Amino acid sequence: MSMATSHFHSSIKVFALFHLILLFSSLLHTATAIPSHQREQEQDTPITRFQRYLRINTAHPTPDYYSAVSFLKAQAHSLGLTSKTFEFTPGKPLLLLTWPGSNPSLPSILLNSHLDSVPAEPAKWLHPPFSAHRTSDGKIFARGAQDDKCIAVQYLEAIRNLKARAFSPLRSVHISLVPDEEIGGLNGAAKFVESDDFLRLNVGFALDEGQASPGDEFRVFYADRIPWNVIIRATGVPGHGARLYDGSAMENLMESMEAVSRFRESQFDVVKAGKALNGDVVSVNPVYVKAGVTSDDGFAMNVQPSEAEAGFDLRLTPTTDPDELKRRIAKEWAPAVRNMSYEVRFFMKKNLI
Ligand SMILES: [Zn+2]
Repeated sequence: MSMATSHFHSSIKVFALFHLILLFSSLLHTATAIPSHQREQEQDTPITRFQRYLRINTAHPTPDYYSAVSFLKAQAHSLGLTSKTFEFTPGKPLLLLTWPGSNPSLPSILLNSHLDSVPAEPAKWLHPPFSAHRTSDGKIFARGAQDDKCIAVQYLEAIRNLKARAFSPLRSVHISLVPDEEIGGLNGAAKFVESDDFLRLNVGFALDEGQASPGDEFRVFYADRIPWNVIIRATGVPGHGARLYDGSAMENLMESMEAVSRFRESQFDVVKAGKALNGDVVSVNPVYVKAGVTSDDGFAMNVQPSEAEAGFDLRLTPTTDPDELKRRIAKEWAPAVRNMSYEVRFFMKKNLI
């Protein structure tokens, strides 16, 4: 759930508090005023508008971006907002809505939300993931409901409420609805923030999705950690499992695992001591180990393999020096003198988080 460009990224991940409070009071009011499912379908309310958006299947790998954009555009036009659609990458539209301020020369406010959702496995759902089914106790089932179609709808409904109160913003308020966030945003937000169109918005403050809250409280985030996938590979002399000798691939990898483990502890200790929160330290967790010589019934238990590999999920804080961390990896975790190598994979297409 993150934008790809640090300039934009580090200043967001915050909830639109007052907008949300306005909206939720409106949603609650509407929810209790609707007597039956049938009547609900006939009405045009924040809830039914939310459901209509949810019924557009924007899940990967084939998100229906155009239907989503046309729905949101119609909503925006009904509110008197202006709209502009960019297509920095063919087939991946990015919708920008604007509520002009009375002093548009001031730095603007940007509210961001992504159009796409992660895939759903319909067989495992109580209700079809794109039915936006609403139960009698008010729960709505839909893929993307929290992450993050509710955000776009909250922005629009908050504006609707503010307009109904004759509020007029001093600064221009923009809403960007971006494609491909769930697959890294490289063809969406990343291209947008590098464009002249983005520069011209003169954004002074931006808000993006955060975490769902079951109550009325909203946690505020002002930064997000950066994921690194680190793969460490070791090679060494293969040999019989009965022998003790130096420089086997597994021995090299085990030493690395110990070094990684020491670093992990050093970070975790700070959290355990109450001196930092989880998000304030670099986390590293082993996620796989790959080695061994296979045999008919599993692995040959008497062979020391010539290759071994381990994968780690690292999360860097916004203040982590990436070069320093790379130096640590090269020196302590995967030293070439021990026949080791490493690879850092940044947030990539296949990582759906
Ligand atoms: Zn998200």
